[in-house]
Amino acid sequence: MLKQLEVRVRLAPSPTGHLHIGTARTALFNWLFARKNNGSFLLRIEDTDKERSKNEYTENILEGLKWLGLTWDEVPIIQSNRIEKHKDAISHLLKEGLAYRCYTSEEELQFLRDKQIKAGEAPRYDNRHRNLTKEQELNFLEEGRSSVIRFRIDEDQSVIWKDMVRGHMTWDSKDLGGDMVISRRAPANEIGDPLYNLVVVLDDSEMKITHVIRGEDHISNTAKQLLLYKALALKPPSFAHAPLILNPDGRKLSKRDGVTSISDFRAMGYTPKAMTNYMTLLGWSPPDGMEEIFSLNESSSVFDFDRVNKAGAKFDWDKLKWLNAQEIHSWSPKKLLGFLRPLWEKEGWELQSEDWGLKLSELIGPSLTLLNDGLEQSRIFFETPSIQEDGLKQLSIEGAKESLKIIFQLLEQTPWDGKDFSIAKNLINDCSKSLGIKKGITMKSLRVALLGSIQGPDLLTSWSLLAMKNSDKNRIKRCL
Ligand code: GLU
Repeated sequence: MLKQLEVRVRLAPSPTGHLHIGTARTALFNWLFARKNNGSFLLRIEDTDKERSKNEYTENILEGLKWLGLTWDEVPIIQSNRIEKHKDAISHLLKEGLAYRCYTSEEELQFLRDKQIKAGEAPRYDNRHRNLTKEQELNFLEEGRSSVIRFRIDEDQSVIWKDMVRGHMTWDSKDLGGDMVISRRAPANEIGDPLYNLVVVLDDSEMKITHVIRGEDHISNTAKQLLLYKALALKPPSFAHAPLILNPDGRKLSKRDGVTSISDFRAMGYTPKAMTNYMTLLGWSPPDGMEEIFSLNESSSVFDFDRVNKAGAKFDWDKLKWLNAQEIHSWSPKKLLGFLRPLWEKEGWELQSEDWGLKLSELIGPSLTLLNDGLEQSRIFFETPSIQEDGLKQLSIEGAKESLKIIFQLLEQTPWDGKDFSIAKNLINDCSKSLGIKKGITMKSLRVALLGSIQGPDLLTSWSLLAMKNSDKNRIKRCL
């Protein structure tokens, strides 16, 4: 029996910006496919655009992937280290007559493009330097012209492949824009910097990539790359083109739509579990019977490209927020405290005790959508809030201030340590009874005194937290 080829996939980010949600979703599909097939998920940093590539972006990308849990299996390949290999391949193509030097100047190319556009045609290079004679070439050299190197794309062929998402694909080579530039402009006796389509083919082949999984915006590149595989006598991988992530207007999600980088989502208080869960649903549908909420482990055991949609996936903030809330609500107070503590520390807020922090986390946990909501929702337990308008109204009700006065006096005699809730309940009961008012009035007034408003978290738990810090009496006193 034939030994099955090990699945090897890769993410090939260009470090020209922060890890974008589209790239992260591509990483995720690669990762899920690798895990499903016991394969390897690799990284290649495509840093050949020297002006725009930055180390800080590489760090941001690696950090973001790690945070999402999309760990890779081998040391990342740095593309710029392989430039000599890329240039060797270009020399080979030149020698074989599969590529040639093109001396057309930028002005001439612009002129050509303008003319084509005017005539209502799609701009393309007209292959004018494909078959230069020795003499013509010498003339260009004497003129001191620089050159790019172009790969010959014969016009009369169709590029065909079976896409794992889109099925049978066919692309006419005449629609690829003419002979393709594979190295940047350079003095005529040099080979300029090798360009994306060629370099990707060489590197994917060197890394023994079996499946190239990337966004649909690369479909025409795939056609070009398949021609290069053929010219270089290399075995092409399989291809999967995932649908794009769209904004609510149906256009490709961009910076203009607000937050798009993973580090920003993280800073806003989204959890990695909700992010990977949501990004998986952006284009993939779980099989029947599978819940919508799942972990990376769960989705990777069933992931395949048959369930990836062809149509673009609209980004839905409400869905992401809902998933994030579900995730936070499933956490233990201890886990939540681990995330809230640094937020509190940044504000200079000190925890009364570990136990106090756990109680506060447990109290506010169920109302959090984003982790960062935990900051505002816990503020009233660290800083005395001013009395809101609804609170002032409550305090003007008959019996309100009197009830606070009595509770204050009772607490003066025997302070409550915040532990046994029946003590607090009795205080409220006794006070209401002695004033002959409804218990609700006492409770609402107490809530206003302690928390500044008639709205807010559970009264007894809140009171208990403040009592443990010994700040309940002062808050009541200021209302008298
Ligand atoms: N560096 C390319 C990008 O970030 C890689 C595309 C590919 O996966 O081939 O778009």
